[in-house]
Order: sequence, then structure tokens, then C-alpha cells
Amino acid sequence: MTLPETLTPSSVTDHLLAILASSAHTPYIGEPVSQLEHSLQCAQQALNVSNPSADDETIVAALLHDIGQFAPEDELEGTVKDMNSGSGSVGRYSHDELGAKYLRGLGFSKKVCTLVGEHVNAKRYLCGVDSAYFEKLSEASKESLRFQGGPMDDEERRMYEEALGRDVVRDIVRVRKWDDGGKVVGVQVEGLERYKTSITKVLERDGRKVPEE
Ligand code: FE
Repeated sequence: MTLPETLTPSSVTDHLLAILASSAHTPYIGEPVSQLEHSLQCAQQALNVSNPSADDETIVAALLHDIGQFAPEDELEGTVKDMNSGSGSVGRYSHDELGAKYLRGLGFSKKVCTLVGEHVNAKRYLCGVDSAYFEKLSEASKESLRFQGGPMDDEERRMYEEALGRDVVRDIVRVRKWDDGGKVVGVQVEGLERYKTSITKVLERDGRKVPEE
């Protein structure tokens, strides 16, 4: 699998779907589902949500939120390094940021990249607001939180809300909760094909081109 020479909405969509498809045999660290099942379960929850329903960018972000965890190493900018808990790998360092940068380079909007790039901070945010949330995290997720900076304190949370805005923080938190809920064995979900049009549409919107920076 190689990055297409010409990045168009449809070539990028096909490439991302191929990466996702190939994650069917990659275990989702410390959880009983594959990376692909996890991604599809997150996206399914985005499809199902109401009040308000999720827009295409949020659905696509839910599907791609862990792309920094399993995209081919040679396509990611920056250092790819595993976090090791002592009993094995608990994922790549900064997979959220790696993923956001990767998607930015492929031409995705700021919103998609923010939702992907903030899904780890969202866990830190939620753990700061709600200690019951922390208690409910899986052991693997509690373990990786240690590497991720621990829960946000009051001041950090205030600055976070101020910097990103309330609606974006709402969607960041939603993606995070779908992430937490996307670890169920044997659940029925829509397949990858369901997202083909949404991804292409998001990439095509506003005639967006691959950013130069
Ligand atoms: Fe995830």
C-alpha cells in the first residue's frame, strides 16, 4: 500500500479505506476488538447520535480518530514511537497528533483534524470533570492516561474551552465517548463502504485543496 501520487478526494478516500481495511487484523491495544472493528463502532455511534445529530466531518473524524495508531509509519510525519507500559506496547506516542497532522496533509478540514487531534486531550478533560468517568475507563486506557499527562486541572480545562469553543469541545467529548464505547465484541455495524461518500464529500467541500504548509 502506497500513498497515491496525486492526492484527490477520491484517491485519498480509497487509500484511507484500504488502510482501515488492513487494520482488521491489528488488535486494538489491550482490547478484545480489532482496530477496524473499533473504528467502525465509533463511526456507527456517530451515525446513530441525535440532539444534535453528527455532521459529516464528525462522522469521518470518528471513523479516522485512531489513524495515527495504524497508518503506515513512512506516511506519518514525525517520530513514531511506542509507549511501553512494562508489560508491552500501549500504542504509539501522540497517535492523536500524528493522525491529525496526517489528515491535514491529505486535505481534511480543521474540524476533522481537531476532533482527531484532541481525542486524547478529551480523555484528560473528562477525567478532570468527572472522577466516575476515570473509574469507568478500561485498564489499558487508565494505563495510557499516565503517559498522556493525567487528568486536566480546573485552569487547564478553562483554557481548553476558551481556546476551542463550546461546540467543538462538545464534539471532541462525543468522539471520546464513542471511542470508549467502541470496544464491544460482536456488535453489528455498517461496513467501510458506508463511509466512502462521506469521506469524499468532506474532502471535496469548499473545493478544498491539499494545504501547502
Ligand atoms: Fe480509539
